[in-house]
Amino acid sequence: MPPPTLYLPQMLIAEGQAHENRPANENMGLLVDARGFVSGLATKDAVGPETRVVNLHGRALLPGLANAHSHTFQRLFRGRAEGRAAGGDTFWTWREQMYRAAGFVSPEDLYDVARATFLEMVCAGITAVGEFHYLHRDSAGDAYSEPNLLSYEVIAAAQSVGLRICLLRTGYFRAGFEREPHPGQRRFYETPDEYLRNLEHLADAYADVENVTVGAAPHSIRAVPLDEMKRIAEFARSRRIPLHMHISEQVGENAACAAEYGATPVELIAEHGILSPATTLIHAIHLTEFEFAKVASEKTTICSCPTTERNLGDGIFPAETAARLGIPVAFGTDSQAQIDILEDARQLEYHLRLRDQQRGILDASARSDWASREPIGSMLLSAATSNGYASLGLRGALAAGEPADFFTVDLNDLSILGVDAESLAAQAVFSLAKTAVREVAVQGRLILEDGQHIDSDEIRARYGKVQRRYQDATN
Ligand SMILES: [Zn+2]
Repeated sequence: MPPPTLYLPQMLIAEGQAHENRPANENMGLLVDARGFVSGLATKDAVGPETRVVNLHGRALLPGLANAHSHTFQRLFRGRAEGRAAGGDTFWTWREQMYRAAGFVSPEDLYDVARATFLEMVCAGITAVGEFHYLHRDSAGDAYSEPNLLSYEVIAAAQSVGLRICLLRTGYFRAGFEREPHPGQRRFYETPDEYLRNLEHLADAYADVENVTVGAAPHSIRAVPLDEMKRIAEFARSRRIPLHMHISEQVGENAACAAEYGATPVELIAEHGILSPATTLIHAIHLTEFEFAKVASEKTTICSCPTTERNLGDGIFPAETAARLGIPVAFGTDSQAQIDILEDARQLEYHLRLRDQQRGILDASARSDWASREPIGSMLLSAATSNGYASLGLRGALAAGEPADFFTVDLNDLSILGVDAESLAAQAVFSLAKTAVREVAVQGRLILEDGQHIDSDEIRARYGKVQRRYQDATN
């Protein structure tokens, strides 16, 4: 068994508190046990001779970032759907590209694309991903002889990179209310019975596998009718696994839901007991005050994806309403338009500044009537770390007993040069360039060292081959 390890950075944030080791101070570090779990903070003098000391002078160590909402295969058409369609409805140009990429990937391609995407996440300080995975069938729309084959490929890709994954196996049963099946969605469709059976098999297969968990994800109220949504929610509750769904990303979705059920999506699922602390709503942009109050009362998380939402023109998430009501917010890179969770965190605030022509909108320390009084930097950092972990059914704030999932940044990087413990959270959120990320650990295992991943060259080369074939096939 490996010895316990004391990571000794110059600065660290653990359990929401920032510490700085000045020369006059004791050398305070993060003590990690042999299994990769945090024992607590300890000084160099206080640990026994069996403890391995990893000197991280010149680094700040922070809790690992959570990417609570990802579709890895969408990395394949980055920058290839940014133009304007003749009719002006640019969401549809994006969608057609998405269907093309979804139809293209073989199981091996999916593995290669997922590996490169996960490597990019690791290099941005991400230690856990919630992969909202809806590719299940072959390109003709038939089930593979192993119906979870594509889920296995994505999980294997995360394992090979070293990233913690919660595979949110996604149910997708129809194109929409009174709509014919869409040929671009043929790899997504399963019957509800097939879906639940496959989800159960997948959850059983990884029940005892380290760093891999499984969650349930009815795609949206558009793709999953209410009765099936209730069945999936019941299954997730019985298995105590997370439940994620897209909701109210665009106003058109609210109108379709009202036409089918006479209620908006969040009203509908609230009425049917689908909101809970284990539920995460992705996007939740176009909600009424009443709907936000329902989300708050059920302690449900909202996963906001600002870098995707701005890319797709979805709208501005009213984060100040969520913050006032104490709704936990997490972040996701979603479409992979870019992979930088801290950029998502800063955009949550910046969108509101542009909208209101004011500053410090999410700074709860200035708001006497809000659920929390947390300053803006630490609030957004918690959203990017522990809230995302909790949304995936995990714990990740570097508290004792939690997995040692962390990243370090170079204090000499120009983007944060001169930072101190007091400004570390705010500088990380508002200024840190992801190129400053040096070490990344998942459950105490370093998967990035001095900015390098051991399989980086191979992962890049294999991704490049898939990308070229995709271009040849789609041009
Ligand atoms: Zn999504």
